[in-house]
Amino acid sequence: MELCLKQIGSRSKYVKVATRHCQLPKGHSGSCDEFPYLKHLQTVASKVANKVKRDSTMTTGAAWKSTDAGPNRILRWVMLLNDEELMSYGLNMQGLKPQVVAKLREKAATYDDCVNVAKKLTWYVYQMPLAPRPPNDIKEYLESHFGEMQAGSTVCGVCRLPLSFELFEQAKRGSAPIETCHLDPRIHNAVNVRFAHRECNIAQGDKSLEEFYSWIKGILSRAGKL
Ligand SMILES: [Zn+2]
Ligand SMILES: [Zn+2]
Repeated sequence: MELCLKQIGSRSKYVKVATRHCQLPKGHSGSCDEFPYLKHLQTVASKVANKVKRDSTMTTGAAWKSTDAGPNRILRWVMLLNDEELMSYGLNMQGLKPQVVAKLREKAATYDDCVNVAKKLTWYVYQMPLAPRPPNDIKEYLESHFGEMQAGSTVCGVCRLPLSFELFEQAKRGSAPIETCHLDPRIHNAVNVRFAHRECNIAQGDKSLEEFYSWIKGILSRAGKL
């Protein structure tokens, strides 16, 4: 599918870091839209649509409160800038703890990768058990990017158990039982991204999924469970 890709304005102070683009099909009617495939979710489950947008474009926010702990959430593509460029936006990376800098830098991703992650996550959302059905135009749009969708087929990226859409509703103290996960936590792109149970994502931690599985396998083997 060829996309419109006309430039979209933004009021963000980081507008110069990356140009945002219309993601509607080329030659579309009506106004340009950066997240057209989220329109339906926005009306039936706005929390989910906002989570998809946030997780795909922003670094994850830790419980960072002190000044040397760094910004809470920031656009992932801003983290591609070097220290000097970030200083011009008032972000002093050298004043942060090295672990914080490493974490932030690890979350960096290009604008295009973030846009494709948002599309891929939406594709997964609609395939969760108990998910709302996508309107045909959105279904076709997402399928043209990632292939045919099968209702109810989305599983946790880590434990492979079905991941119910209803889990999105069960947020406790701001932390939902569903999180975005990565096969390799250091790569944020459409191929590498999944949803996972929060507990599974926490268990995987900084390991790649392969490293995590062999770690578990080693434990089970030593414990005589294999
Ligand atoms: Zn457009
Ligand atoms: Zn799981």
